[in-house]
Amino acid sequence: MANPPSDVMAKLQALRDSFAAQLPGKIHEVMAVGDTLCGGKSNEAEEGEALKLLHYLAHKLTGSGATFGFNAVSDAARALEIFAKELLDCAVPSSAAQRAQISAYLENLQRAAGQREKKSGANYWQESGAPAPRAPDSNSENRLIYLVEDDPLLAQDLALQLGNFNYTTHVFHSLAEFRQAVRQAIPAALIMDMGLPDGNGADAIMEIQEGRATPLPVIFLSGRGDLGARLAGVRAGGAAYFTKPVDIGAMVDALDTLTAQKAPEPYRILIVDDTPSLARYFALTLQEVGMVTEVVTDPMNIMQALVEFAPELILMDMYMPGCNGLELAMVIRQQEAYVGIPIVFLSAETDLNKQLEAMRQGGDDFLVKPIQPDHLISAVTSRVRRYHILRSFMTRDSLTGLYNHTTTKDLLDNAAGLAQRHNAPLAVAMIDIDHFKSVNDTYGHATGDRVIKSLSRLLQQRLRKTDIIGRYGGEEFAVALIDADAARAESIMNEIRVSFEQIRHRVDDREFNVTFSCGVAVFPPNGSAAEFNEAADKALYEAKRSGRNRVVMGGGE
Ligand code: GH3
Ligand code: MG
Ligand code: MG
Repeated sequence: MANPPSDVMAKLQALRDSFAAQLPGKIHEVMAVGDTLCGGKSNEAEEGEALKLLHYLAHKLTGSGATFGFNAVSDAARALEIFAKELLDCAVPSSAAQRAQISAYLENLQRAAGQREKKSGANYWQESGAPAPRAPDSNSENRLIYLVEDDPLLAQDLALQLGNFNYTTHVFHSLAEFRQAVRQAIPAALIMDMGLPDGNGADAIMEIQEGRATPLPVIFLSGRGDLGARLAGVRAGGAAYFTKPVDIGAMVDALDTLTAQKAPEPYRILIVDDTPSLARYFALTLQEVGMVTEVVTDPMNIMQALVEFAPELILMDMYMPGCNGLELAMVIRQQEAYVGIPIVFLSAETDLNKQLEAMRQGGDDFLVKPIQPDHLISAVTSRVRRYHILRSFMTRDSLTGLYNHTTTKDLLDNAAGLAQRHNAPLAVAMIDIDHFKSVNDTYGHATGDRVIKSLSRLLQQRLRKTDIIGRYGGEEFAVALIDADAARAESIMNEIRVSFEQIRHRVDDREFNVTFSCGVAVFPPNGSAAEFNEAADKALYEAKRSGRNRVVMGGGE
């Protein structure tokens, strides 16, 4: 969950303060290298190395200084950086005049570090008067549904069915009761019967909506399916219209859409920068708009982060020790899994040719430090959004929106690896719908598809966001319950099993129930995903063999 703005602001200020505290040390470091260079006691090779180091340190100060509001430091460092680069490029031993010049730049830098400036960077939101980007609404979990229905049995039945999908339903038998309640609490959505004892549902809705700044999402319910009744619903601003008896799957679909229950997954951004304070600054800025970030300060550790964090965009510093951003981008792009991932370079590099070169090597954009938070956010958002959509086509199953077989396997692999490394609990469940062939044979393939969808929705609603849910095969699902031990996994899967069993599926005027069998394997069987799957499969087989509609625990011993 994103931090409230004030919290982020405080953290940014803390970062700025710690940069200020570290500045004397950083200046001292640059001066020491400068002394080696200008002292005239070193040989040519040592001098070359010192010059490279001087350039690197100056470069870092250029970017971080400006980011944290030390503009004079940044300017002085940039002048030194440019001069050092010129010397490096001509590859001739530096003359006495050039040494004197370096000394002058160093003195400038030292002087600048003595001054204090507060502009831009960490204080941007406070000082520019720009509205801080809004954190995602933490109240997005409103699952309260108001149902206005005068038939008590029908109302109770619908409330029970919706309960299986995690909706809490308050039932009102008359408009008077409902009018009273809607003044006190706002439901996520409203299901309104058209014909009520004390008035017409559509008329009542029109009247209530008129007095509201934001209209309530409304679904109409009626015994009539004729055009006249439907028109009345549309005119009253109804988002959907259902005839009785209600198809619960379609109703949940409509409610999910109206209440936006499928909260969008946050974008995942990997930040590669060897300056920890800068990396943290970028991370906080992006977290502020709800993105999830991971920081790598040693570029040599990037491979593990790519696999475990599975980023959707990489924000990459250009100059780092060990290897530079361009090389790293090439290494990443040479792996099939990461060919399309957007890479945005971030650097104090203002040389246009260098920037073009970076783009040629597979960079998607080049942002020059210091960068304003809103610019960083918009550059990242536009690129990550496109990739997020593109990737969802490749990784998701089209019927259910769950991960497809290949992706599920990869994610299970990761989860098993992570659990093993951190010695954390993990449970993997394999689910297979019982006698599904006969569902298809009796009610048709389209109805079978709807049953598959209803189970996928149930899993999505009952499991945590961090859990992995995949459609493993036709009517088979695989689930990884992160951090769940045997007892918890068993009870969760059993709850889901019972809920699923209670859902009444409907075709025309026929109703039926469906069940599933489930096998669960709990860490540590022996660690690898393959072993998990095998243990869960075995348990699933046992669940089928011993009578179906049950959860069997396996593996782990
Ligand atoms: P069991 O309890 O032993 O699992 O019996 P079952 O009938 O569920 O198992 P079986 O594996 O024999 O049949 C699975 C059926 O699922 C066969 C296949 O036609 C159907 N199926 C697979 N994918 C889909 C799909 O996407 N939609 C629909 N409607 N049916 C599918
Ligand atoms: Mg099967
Ligand atoms: Mg089956």
